[in-house]
Amino acid sequence: MNPLLLPLLLLCLVAAGLTAALLRGRKAHAATRSRARQEHALQAQQARHAEQLAQRNAQLEATLGSMVEGVVVMDPEGRIREINPAAADLLDLDLTHDAGQAFAQRVRNAALQRLLDTALGLLSDPDAEDDLSAEIQLRPADATPNTERHLRVEAAAVTDERGLRQGAVLVLHDVTHLRRLESVRQDFVANVSHELRTPISAVKAAVEALRSTPPPDADQRQRFTGIIARQADRLEAILNDLLTLTQLDAAATPAPLDPADVGLTVAAAIESCTANAQARNIELAVDLQEDLQASVAPARLEQALVNLIDNALKYSPEGTRVTLKARQTLDDKALAKQAEHAVQITVRDQGRGIEAHHLPRLFERFYRTDRARSRQLGGTGLGLSIVKHMIEQAGGHVSVQSTLGQGSAFTLHLPAPQPPVP
Ligand code: ADP
Repeated sequence: MNPLLLPLLLLCLVAAGLTAALLRGRKAHAATRSRARQEHALQAQQARHAEQLAQRNAQLEATLGSMVEGVVVMDPEGRIREINPAAADLLDLDLTHDAGQAFAQRVRNAALQRLLDTALGLLSDPDAEDDLSAEIQLRPADATPNTERHLRVEAAAVTDERGLRQGAVLVLHDVTHLRRLESVRQDFVANVSHELRTPISAVKAAVEALRSTPPPDADQRQRFTGIIARQADRLEAILNDLLTLTQLDAAATPAPLDPADVGLTVAAAIESCTANAQARNIELAVDLQEDLQASVAPARLEQALVNLIDNALKYSPEGTRVTLKARQTLDDKALAKQAEHAVQITVRDQGRGIEAHHLPRLFERFYRTDRARSRQLGGTGLGLSIVKHMIEQAGGHVSVQSTLGQGSAFTLHLPAPQPPVP
């Protein structure tokens, strides 16, 4: 064997070993780089996911925050997990402090709790499973009919992909306004029926008396026909007022108006009431600023004034005075800025006045301070509600001040016409 062959062989072996090691080193390096790339890609993906999640959370929060309906999300034990501002408001809960609290501890309402327990699957009654919506009433501790809340509540179980219950969600709709409107309508129908029944009963009794045997004498006949005539007038007055209210209700947005000339309208209203005032020996006095205009239909302003003057005459003793005063309440500069309620018309009497506790309800339909007296004077109990309705439809409002034994002052606050655009 060539003596050189062995070292050469050894050299080759060493070289091959070195190359293999080098190749292994390279491979390992490439693997590390690829792992780093993968980790980097994974991190980027996680960051994207986190960002998407944050975005979705923000969207969800914004959606829940802007919802009119209240939403409460509960965990399987019935603890509050999420609550939106509407639900916090409806249930009188604190957005931050009540999260994590047991719902049953914070809202004490049996019907609501039953719904929640049903949605959480805590009830043994299988029929209850279908019963996931209800209307409930919430009464705060200091409840009055006006603070009571009516809520329509839908409950739903929250389940995971395996169908296991993970909690429940309650959706709350505030139907208080709807229920109040219904109750106002029911009261109104009951009031109308009652108001109509009284004159109808009087007419029927008078007719019976006229047809009785032996027939009534001339004096009695005169009295009974007088009753029938008066009650027919009363029925007509009630029906006219009801018709006016219905027309006002129907005209939700009044047509654009020609402004009323306050002087002319007041004169027309005074003319309608003069005979009545003379009959009661009451002076009608007028104190008007010149060239006043109000942004209200003249016919409506006239009827509102007639109703107020008519009341002032009805509820004042003979020999007193009723004054109509009209003023512009803001200067031209304020008017140019389209400020509202720029004309005030006040009807002031020297009558018996109204007790303070009646004032907040005075403009309600059929509200009277003295029912018998109002009826005796031919009142329908609707006059002031018509005034309020008319003036509010024109963008104004009505106020009243009264001192018992000294008199009352009813004021119409009306917008002035807008100045023409230059
Ligand atoms: P009515 O037809 O009974 O007069 P209104 O709606 O016009 O109905 O008035 C409601 C109630 O307000 C009246 O029944 C009366 O008790 C009271 N009222 C209205 N105007 C006056 C007034 N000028 N002075 C005293 N009480 C008044």
